[in-house]
Amino acid sequence: MSKGLDGTNKRGILELGAEEKKGWDEVPQGVVLNSFDGSIDNTAFLKPEDREYSEFNSYIASVASWRVIKPVYNRDICIDCQNCWVWCPDTSIISRDKQMLGIDYDHCKGCGVCVEVCPTNPKSLLMFEEATNNDDALAGWPEKKKKAKK
Ligand code: SF4
Ligand code: SF4
Repeated sequence: MSKGLDGTNKRGILELGAEEKKGWDEVPQGVVLNSFDGSIDNTAFLKPEDREYSEFNSYIASVASWRVIKPVYNRDICIDCQNCWVWCPDTSIISRDKQMLGIDYDHCKGCGVCVEVCPTNPKSLLMFEEATNNDDALAGWPEKKKKAKK
């Protein structure tokens, strides 16, 4: 398929070969980076480890090395609402059959969005320094906050 002046084909899809790789700040606005190779018909029914990811997918192009703080998960407080799973921009919340199982530290970039959207009191996810031992973090978990009297 022929390419236009902006490097896209007639359907507006930018075709990047291995020799044409661009930095994140060089990619034209609105371009679509396909997350999967081949057919996506059954992708939703496959476990993440069984999917055919493209090199642009954050599962392959992991940004975990960006992390300086990390989320720690407290199972004792979690109500399995799935908010963190829905909002995580790197699909790094591990959930099966609507039960939250924990954090995928191989892909989590430490943005803290999951903590922001967690509704429990205290939160079931909190951010800690990357070097913190998770058991130590859990041992010092904050108490439930009481509502201020009016
Ligand atoms: S900090 Fe939370 S929302 Fe951000 S990437 Fe990690 S698991 Fe996902
Ligand atoms: S947002 Fe909080 S309460 Fe909801 S599933 Fe995630 S950790 Fe559990």
